[in-house]
Amino acid sequence: MSQVKRVYTFGNKQAEGNGKMRELLGGKGANLAEMNLIGMPVPPGFTITTEVCTEYYKLGKDQVVELLKPEVEKAVKYVEEIMGVKFGNNEDPLLLSVRSGSRASMPGMMDTILNLGLNDEAVAGIAKKSGNERFAWDSYRRFVQMYGDVVLGMKPASKEEEDPFEVIIHTLKEEKGVHNDTDLTTEDLKDLVKRFKAAVKEVTGHDFPTSPWEQLWGAVCSVFDSWMNERAILYRQLNKIPEEWGTAVNVQAMVFGNMGETSATGVCFSRDSSTGENLFNGEYLVNAQGEDVVAGIRTPQEITIIGSQRWAERKGMSEAERKATFPSLEEVMPAAYKELFDIQKKMDTYFKDMQDMEFTIQDGKLWMLQTRAGKRTGAAMVKIAMDMLREGLITEEEAILRVEPNKLDELLHPVFDKAAIKSAKTISRGLPASPGAATGQIVFFADDAEAWANQGKETILVRIETSPEDLKGMNVANGILTARGGMTSHAAVVARGMGKCCVSGASNLKIDYKARTLEIDGKVYNEGDFISLNGTTGEVYEGKVATQKPELSGDFGEIMKLADKYAKMLVRTNADTPHDAKVAREFGAQGIGLCRTEHMFFEGDRIKSVREMILANDEAGRRKALAKLLPIQREDFEGLFEVMAGLAVTVRLLDPPLHEFVPHEEKQQREMAAELGITFEEVREKVHSLAEVNPMLGHRGCRLGNTYPEITEMQARAIIEAALNLKKKGVDAAKVEIMVPLVGNVKELEYQKDIIETTIAKVFEEYGDTVEYTIGTMIEVPRAAVTADEIAKVAQFFSFGTNDLTQMTLGFSRDDIGKFLPEYLKRGILKVDPFEVLDQDGVGQLVKGAVAKGRSTRENLKCGICGEHGGEPSSVEFCHFAGLNYVSCSPYRVPIARLAAAQAAIKESKMK
Ligand code: PEP
Ligand code: MG
Repeated sequence: MSQVKRVYTFGNKQAEGNGKMRELLGGKGANLAEMNLIGMPVPPGFTITTEVCTEYYKLGKDQVVELLKPEVEKAVKYVEEIMGVKFGNNEDPLLLSVRSGSRASMPGMMDTILNLGLNDEAVAGIAKKSGNERFAWDSYRRFVQMYGDVVLGMKPASKEEEDPFEVIIHTLKEEKGVHNDTDLTTEDLKDLVKRFKAAVKEVTGHDFPTSPWEQLWGAVCSVFDSWMNERAILYRQLNKIPEEWGTAVNVQAMVFGNMGETSATGVCFSRDSSTGENLFNGEYLVNAQGEDVVAGIRTPQEITIIGSQRWAERKGMSEAERKATFPSLEEVMPAAYKELFDIQKKMDTYFKDMQDMEFTIQDGKLWMLQTRAGKRTGAAMVKIAMDMLREGLITEEEAILRVEPNKLDELLHPVFDKAAIKSAKTISRGLPASPGAATGQIVFFADDAEAWANQGKETILVRIETSPEDLKGMNVANGILTARGGMTSHAAVVARGMGKCCVSGASNLKIDYKARTLEIDGKVYNEGDFISLNGTTGEVYEGKVATQKPELSGDFGEIMKLADKYAKMLVRTNADTPHDAKVAREFGAQGIGLCRTEHMFFEGDRIKSVREMILANDEAGRRKALAKLLPIQREDFEGLFEVMAGLAVTVRLLDPPLHEFVPHEEKQQREMAAELGITFEEVREKVHSLAEVNPMLGHRGCRLGNTYPEITEMQARAIIEAALNLKKKGVDAAKVEIMVPLVGNVKELEYQKDIIETTIAKVFEEYGDTVEYTIGTMIEVPRAAVTADEIAKVAQFFSFGTNDLTQMTLGFSRDDIGKFLPEYLKRGILKVDPFEVLDQDGVGQLVKGAVAKGRSTRENLKCGICGEHGGEPSSVEFCHFAGLNYVSCSPYRVPIARLAAAQAAIKESKMK
């Protein structure tokens, strides 16, 4: 009988799993196995697979524990043999750590238990064996606290309430008149354990579990439980991690960084995760456990001398002071440092990626606790990919695949305006935890940040330190400022992952959550006051500071060039003004895929003529107003065609319902009446008559041009006259494509095409010259997709308007989805917002079918997409596989789409 294997052991340079088994063992478990296989000093342990997590939610706790028992008991024996100590033996006990580890890293999102296996007897054994009673009791009180919080549910649900254990520590410190945890004596720690246990009994009604096995099963189950905690669910939503993946559980022999002055613990990176610089870096704490570094409770020290010196320079600290107060690991424990340095180098080369590693030094001996590909900023991502390509570690294709397209966004975002920053007043300085510039109003609580964001306010979330509960607030804030914590604190790691500006550890901040004030050097700032952050230098400024466009690095240009080499699809942009078109060209746009002509109608005085046209009672009146619009539109097109010289520009004819152009407030209606020389009542009446029950399904798109052909005539004339004028001037201009919106029936297109061609023939005759042009249509009504073969007989190109196509296929109003989307996401009815990420199974099938049908009647039919999905990486990939010729997106998303297009092409070539 074949049996499912649920537990994989590792230790002593051997492992049952390996680095390729991420899906089954989670990222951490797979890497722990692989680290053993390449000879790293890893504390032995075992991984319970992600499949067990799924079983846990199907079968429940009791049944899963029964299923696991034989394998876990065997695995614990395996660890006991390697360590030479026994789990549950009071004289010389084996202690364990229990941690989560899913396929994708989710820093701090799920639960961890350390020092598991301790009880009143075992603590004495540990004290005796280590000869360090204080260490033993410190470990014990940490264990009771962690276990109480995580497994026994003592952690308060609301962040307004304090952790009951922290309250007890605080009370004891007050009683003893001490400030730091390190000032607590062994007797104090014993007292704490007693008080902690009493609190557990009081809150849960049960004694704290003394049996190590009971503790172990409790911890394992609580890791599985934490897969479904609120912050893990939110993190998965934000990072598009499927719930089905589940988490693995890693159980490992404890090693201790808190055994005294020859012990330490830390986090390190093989390259700089902010800038990408190929420089080993990280932070450590002497006599501490791993969680202390991440939690930001004590200020960690730099690992390398160079890092320490750079840190001191930013703080304005002298070399002598640095050496005396914040020396590097390289100086404090040179032998362990040397070993760590060699290991990180080996891992960087072996895994061919920047590694984020955790280590512990127990009494001088180095242990590697985990490694994973490090989270990094967009800039670092690009630099590391290009550096590794130059170092010969990876290929061009791998370099392209290494960069997450969405992370490029960070490189394109503003930095502080150079002039404005000169006069800005620096009020604090912290660590440059995540680069960029941010300005906003001070807010202290994540919930408020969210509420304020909903009101359209820009915020800076200011916290003593952040925790995973703050995730939502961090996500909506422009920037994050913390008083405590280093470069590897929760705030720093999460902000970098989000591409959000963050300054951490600005130690002169005095934050009073109750009073909602921030005091800096005696000056008080209130909630709502503006501050600005420079995440690249760590500076904090008073008030608002203007921002400007970033300068793009050489590596950015290089990776973009590589992307274009591999991409099969072109990337165009959606732009309506010469300015936007210019920006997009700088970002590498290879044409305009959508010029929404109606946007031109709102500029300057034009809206007056547009309104005059709409309010006209008959064709003659409309023609009169359109005659005023003609030269303006022509001029707009001339500007656009000139900027896009040599490239294709798709101009879409008027699309929105007319009532979008008229004023709805009485005051503005009266102004409009005065401007047009008609009565207010006439205006009101006309506006009223334009109202529709379902305007998005009403008198819009080609229905406008088919009922008021003179509008189409004017627009076709303006487009072609612009092209002819440029030709006359000898200007190299764009190739014109005229696009008819919202076609659902081929007859609608035929009718429009006829008007366009007749008008253009007239213009050609008037000018005695011609230009090339094509006429195509948007595919944005499901009927158009289904009858694409008929439509392609008339249309020379298709452009998928996936905004409307999504709206009409799903029957979701694009303007009202906000009312139910959050609930749908929460319940898992939808995995993502279909207006952001193309619904490949529904809308995508219409796209695929329409491409095939269209090309069945017009073999060379050019197909593109111009809905918002054209700049979303997974949708761009879909478009590649659907055989589209190009995607079109907003200017700032052009680099993202170029990279996504290249990645899709590379993935396809790998499949072959
Ligand atoms: C679309 O519907 O996808 C589209 C691009 O047009 P608009 O968003 O202007 O309706
Ligand atoms: Mg549309």
